[in-house]
Amino acid sequence: MFTLRYPHLAIAGSDERFPVHRIYCVGQNYAAHAREMGNDPEREAPVWFTKVPDSVVPGGGRVVYPPGTSDLHHEVELVVALSAGGADLSPTAAHALIHAYAVGIDLTRRDLQAAAKKAGRPWDTAKSFEQAAPVSALHRAADIGHPASGRIWLSVNGESRQEGDIGDLIWPVAEALSALSRLFTLAPGDLLFTGTPSGVGPVVAGDRITCGIDGIDELQVDIVAPATG
Ligand code: MN
Repeated sequence: MFTLRYPHLAIAGSDERFPVHRIYCVGQNYAAHAREMGNDPEREAPVWFTKVPDSVVPGGGRVVYPPGTSDLHHEVELVVALSAGGADLSPTAAHALIHAYAVGIDLTRRDLQAAAKKAGRPWDTAKSFEQAAPVSALHRAADIGHPASGRIWLSVNGESRQEGDIGDLIWPVAEALSALSRLFTLAPGDLLFTGTPSGVGPVVAGDRITCGIDGIDELQVDIVAPATG
């Protein structure tokens, strides 16, 4: 009847592809970013949301500026990929699920998110849309280890916008996965976007985003205008 397009990611140093099952995201996981969004990072529990799996843009490249917004924001993030699953896991057990790490961008229609927050409505239209999740190749923990710290950065047209260190996560990866596993049954193919450091801001068609995490990878995205006519 039709053919489904299953989203998948490259695995560095391998001919295998990583099929994406679900995309979970945690919001406000760096203190300075939580503050810039008007929240108190000391007192609030992690904010969870999801993106549909086929919003991934494997390896970055061209991303069409999405409809319905005039304030598309970049959020560079450490992405964790799972090769096993489970529920109600300790941080130690959750850590054992991790297969690989990548650099991702949680593209966000900030104006729709602000309206949703104000109205007490869901964030879906702000966070989950076509090409909302560019992700670099995956780098296996077997090859690079489990990076506990490292510079995370993002530039637009060569100008620095975001700068942080993945060692500053309020909910470190294992603790975040453990908390997530008490709400959902984690599965092979799941991705977790672990939150963004401060400095989020808008991009427009014609902008080139470059970003990276020391010890993992870099990612480049070109925002392009939608085709007309
Ligand atoms: Mn984010």
